[in-house]
Amino acid sequence: MFEYAPAPESRDIVDIRPSYGLFINGEWVEPQGEERHKTVNPATEEVLAEVAWAGEADVDRAVQAAAKAFPAWSGMPGAERAKYLFRIARIIQERARELAVLETLDNGKPIRESRDVDLPLVAAHFFYYAGWADKLAYAGFGENPRPLGVAGQVIPWNFPLLMLAWKIAPALACGNTVVLKPAETTPLTALAFAEICRQADLPPGVVNIVTGAGETGAALVAHPGVDKVAFTGSTEVGRHIARSLAGTRKKLTLELGGKAANIVFEDAPIDQAVEGVVNGIFFNQGHVCCAGSRLLVQESVAADLLEALKRRLGTLRLGDPLDKNTDIGAINSAEQLAKIRELSEAGEAEGAERWSPSCPIPDRGYWFPPTLFTGVAQSHRIAREEIFGPVLSVLTFRTPAEAVEKANNTPYGLSAGVWTEKGSLMLWAASRLRAGVVWSNTFNRFDPASPFGGFKESGYGREGGRHGLEAYLAV
Ligand code: NAD
Repeated sequence: MFEYAPAPESRDIVDIRPSYGLFINGEWVEPQGEERHKTVNPATEEVLAEVAWAGEADVDRAVQAAAKAFPAWSGMPGAERAKYLFRIARIIQERARELAVLETLDNGKPIRESRDVDLPLVAAHFFYYAGWADKLAYAGFGENPRPLGVAGQVIPWNFPLLMLAWKIAPALACGNTVVLKPAETTPLTALAFAEICRQADLPPGVVNIVTGAGETGAALVAHPGVDKVAFTGSTEVGRHIARSLAGTRKKLTLELGGKAANIVFEDAPIDQAVEGVVNGIFFNQGHVCCAGSRLLVQESVAADLLEALKRRLGTLRLGDPLDKNTDIGAINSAEQLAKIRELSEAGEAEGAERWSPSCPIPDRGYWFPPTLFTGVAQSHRIAREEIFGPVLSVLTFRTPAEAVEKANNTPYGLSAGVWTEKGSLMLWAASRLRAGVVWSNTFNRFDPASPFGGFKESGYGREGGRHGLEAYLAV
């Protein structure tokens, strides 16, 4: 019988240099120190490239370049800045296929996701904020909203190019200049973006990219020439940054971790809910801050839902992320894999029952099968801590009030999902959930016009939409 099996996307369409410097003032420059690190393909452990590790002196150089570029960039009419952003958006669209492959190679995510989710959203963010650049006076921030100056931006590895777009597009639209540090395990698309800035003839110094680990991020955050810090990453590092900036004039936004509940009420359409639960936790291997990592299902339908869920998990394909049929790609790093394993073992040790479909694991690379835990108590670590992997903790509830109470029983508050056909129940639950984003009968939907951000230990400030401008304006 004929089976449709498209060929894997080819890695030959990307041009990866063996070694990268830093992108400062529109030029590739060598770092002052000798240190370099290898970035690997997590699906094969193949070394993709060596990247520079920026030290304090390099960060200083980048911040100075951004400060020098600020007067001309912020003084430019908004309509002119918009032209650059539109140009960047169009180049991203033109190079989307290549950028999707590069993202998949460096991150491990399935090509279907980088091609159909990440890249379209990256371009959409630049288009969306290009549209705001000449309308800031009408955004409700006063007649002459002013940019802050140099933005120091630090991002994680789970959506490398998309997190860059969330940070850079609004910052530039408002007239700020930028120094951005990508995560240590996924620098390649940010470095490709540096080339795109050159292709778009962006004035030198408006965007600077410095690669490195936590020390580089810390040097950027601490630099006195930085006016605004935007951080996306773990709650632990976010807390440390907030403490370190106390008493400074720097404006700060934090997008941190999550432990979202996906609540399925008894009247929900089961098949649709199963798809939503699967997308909620297994999209991007669960490396998603707003992942629906806790399934709260009403007791009366729990058995049926679990049966359907297990059947669906049995159809997920784990393997080569460049294969267009792949649903579950590689875990981004050995460290992240160790963390997922440790928490899953803790789940078993604390008495929860672990289940995975039979799932061949490739010999090389970092992999973890889709996993669900039943019999989970709220006190278990797997119900409280962010696993940031393809692991779902299943809890049950009897009444809507109990569902909301359990959903809110977490230090986090980034997102939540509500599955019901009853509009009144949906609104009742949504208004009581302490989460920045509540989806109903869907999950993990994003749009550049929608603000995104957390309550409680998931951070503060919003990215996206008109709210996302506020973080980059003196208002
Ligand atoms: P992380 O906090 O370890 O690292 C994030 C970034 O911060 C990296 O670039 C890292 O090099 C840098 N960094 C580390 N220490 C630093 C320091 N002391 N000062 C400045 N920068 C420092 O997080 P991670 O493991 O890369 O990412 C996963 C986390 O990110 C998860 O907790 C996830 O929930 C969160 N996240 C949140 C959102 C959101 O929008 N809320 C989005 C994506 C990821």
